[in-house]
Amino acid sequence: MSSVIYGPVSSWRLGRSLGIDLLSTRGNTCSFDCTYCQLGRTVRPLSKRKEFITLTALAKELETAKGVPADYATFSGVGEPTLASNLGKAIEIVKSTLGLPVAVLTNASFMPREDVRRELALADVVVAKVDAPDEERFQAINRPFGGSTLGETLQGIRRFRSEYKGKLALQMMFVEANRDCAPEMARIARELSPDEVQVNTPLRPCAVKPLPPEEIANIRHKFSGLEGVVTVYEVVTPDVTPLSPDETLRRRPKAV
Ligand code: SF4
Repeated sequence: MSSVIYGPVSSWRLGRSLGIDLLSTRGNTCSFDCTYCQLGRTVRPLSKRKEFITLTALAKELETAKGVPADYATFSGVGEPTLASNLGKAIEIVKSTLGLPVAVLTNASFMPREDVRRELALADVVVAKVDAPDEERFQAINRPFGGSTLGETLQGIRRFRSEYKGKLALQMMFVEANRDCAPEMARIARELSPDEVQVNTPLRPCAVKPLPPEEIANIRHKFSGLEGVVTVYEVVTPDVTPLSPDETLRRRPKAV
């Protein structure tokens, strides 16, 4: 469709999702370098926000997507969307142009910042990543740049939860490094009180192996009592959620 807008792709969490990539860089631009990232290693590590795509360019690109049937317009793409300093204005433009609810998938590293929380609050759905119950695993799994800590990140999500009126989902990716952490992760989820918890394991090709369905089902049990818990295996099997042919040819966005 364009370098900024892709799909719609099939998302296990958001249905038909029209992707918006406000970074549109070659290779992953991110404040993390997660071991399981399906984009591969982060080639542009960034811990400061900046403008990548102008709002004028975005508005022009959106003209090509008017009328495309989708359940959500989702800010995701090749990197961390909150790195874009014009995210808030971009959300407003997407809503007014496409008339779709907007979702943002974020690694939550910038949620300690008040300006980022204010911009994210313009979205209808925010999916925030929490993969680790302690600093050691946070550094090992998410490999953040710029001195991000788990403690500050959780504090940012906690503040956002208290301010935000939309739907807040936590995405928790389980891999070998945190497979024994479900009780602690469930405690974190209970404390953050999201509307949904997405228990995930990387099913798309990446550097680490997914955990099998039985193990994810056991992990799911540790979240008992929490409402809105979904696991990736309840919704898809490992060989579904294909990218659209157009998207497959163009690039590999991260899972939506
Ligand atoms: S999984 Fe997301 S947060 Fe992690 S490196 Fe990839 S794009 Fe960044």
